[in-house]
Amino acid sequence: MALQTLPPEYESVNPADGATLKTFAAINDDQLEKKIATAQACYETWRHKSYAERAVIVAKAAELMHAHFEDFARLATLEMGKRIDESRDEVNFSADILGYYAKNAERFLAPVKLNPKIGRAHMESSPIGVIFCVEPWNFPYYQLARIAGPHLMAGNVVIVKHAGIVPQCAIAFEKLWIDAGAPAGLYTNLLITHAQSDRIIDDARIKGVALTGSVAAGKSIAARAGANVKVSSMELGGSDAFIVLDDADLEHAVKWAVWGRMYNAGQTCCAAKRFIVVEELADTFLEKFRAALAALKPGDPLDEKTTLGPLSTESALVELLKQVDAAVAHGAKIALGGKRIDRPGAYMQPTILTDVKPNNPAFREEFFGPVALFFRVKNEDEAIALASDSDFGLGGSVFTKDEARGQRVASRVETGMMFVNNISWSDAELPFGGIKDSGYGRELGDMGIQEFVNKKLVRFGKIDAPVTVPEKATATNGKS
Ligand code: NAP
Repeated sequence: MALQTLPPEYESVNPADGATLKTFAAINDDQLEKKIATAQACYETWRHKSYAERAVIVAKAAELMHAHFEDFARLATLEMGKRIDESRDEVNFSADILGYYAKNAERFLAPVKLNPKIGRAHMESSPIGVIFCVEPWNFPYYQLARIAGPHLMAGNVVIVKHAGIVPQCAIAFEKLWIDAGAPAGLYTNLLITHAQSDRIIDDARIKGVALTGSVAAGKSIAARAGANVKVSSMELGGSDAFIVLDDADLEHAVKWAVWGRMYNAGQTCCAAKRFIVVEELADTFLEKFRAALAALKPGDPLDEKTTLGPLSTESALVELLKQVDAAVAHGAKIALGGKRIDRPGAYMQPTILTDVKPNNPAFREEFFGPVALFFRVKNEDEAIALASDSDFGLGGSVFTKDEARGQRVASRVETGMMFVNNISWSDAELPFGGIKDSGYGRELGDMGIQEFVNKKLVRFGKIDAPVTVPEKATATNGKS
């Protein structure tokens, strides 16, 4: 009988031309068990290392990532189609995140003095164990840095299931840790199936679960973590509003609109997806936005001159086209694009949909690609109401020359993040995350490192017990 081999579960395909680059089989259960055991053993020593000792490894990983940024960037562009400049920026930013936590973790996790009425107390932070992380392909390194930097510096160890379409990036990031001198089991990449992922969550050695991905994945993984009473963080999808008020600097807003919708070929959780423009500026905004999107030139994402890259996979393109067709079938109008581009690879025309009414399923969906929904509103109040009328609540932005007005709008929109006159989403220092279907928990900044630590209360002081012990009992030393 012929030996049965597992089908390749992880396939690296260049979406710019459809060529298969490499395939990888998922590991079997015995291999998985060894990896979890190694991670657990590593935790038992890593947890006792000082912050300075941990920082040596994490800072070295940051240094190596900066040094080899071109190799990392090329791999991301080949595997998921990100334009090469964007890949370079992502790699360097990922390295910065690692460096940021190497430098600041001890300060973030320092004991906090508390002030009880009686005695003294503090809250101290300690690691909790092996953290299982499930990550998406759209930022194949940045997403990994967002979990590795904080959680390793906190004294935890991580095992990571990366998305099926970016195995080479996943393996490169694991090798980074080996090259940085990490002990075996500190950072483990897992080429596994969804069924194996479920069993990992059930495993008693796993103490926390972090997911970045779709709402569907969030519901499945959060439910599993909940059934096991395990702490989890969920960074899910979004349909961010981009509000343009009547006093906005239009040129400035249009530039951010183009960047906010088209960065990473539109495949960003907190991309601007719903453009909400007050009627005074609506026609001019739409005209300028349409002209700018129409001017983007599809091409090889490895070529620096390309301004429009492919989507991550052929199936992502097919699904997005179906979503656009369904939106149109329910009454939306196409102001630009709407079709695939006639060339090899998973390229889609930049697209603008108007007339998307609340009864259109598109009104509540996330469009994960170069598709903008355009809405015109009467005034600021209508803009805020429409921005908040979403099942998602990740980010959003508002454009106005009046910063106080921008602040007011930012405070009223129901999301986890708001940006005034920019959509400069990410900074190692700034907490990232959402509410509603966009998930819970925060990554990055001080908050990001607090997600998987034990906040232990310690209270000191010889405080008398609040009971009255009868004199007789004291005299007989408690014996009757
Ligand atoms: P996805 O299909 O949910 O995949 C994300 C990760 O989850 C992948 O590793 C995937 O593995 C895994 N996965 C999915 N279902 C699973 C299950 N039932 N059990 C175990 N693992 C499972 O999402 P995506 O299409 O790759 O990414 C796009 C989504 O992520 C968008 O909705 C986007 O908005 C969101 N996102 C959110 C943030 C944020 O910070 N809030 C950042 C980036 C992206 P496979 O690939 O093997 O299926």
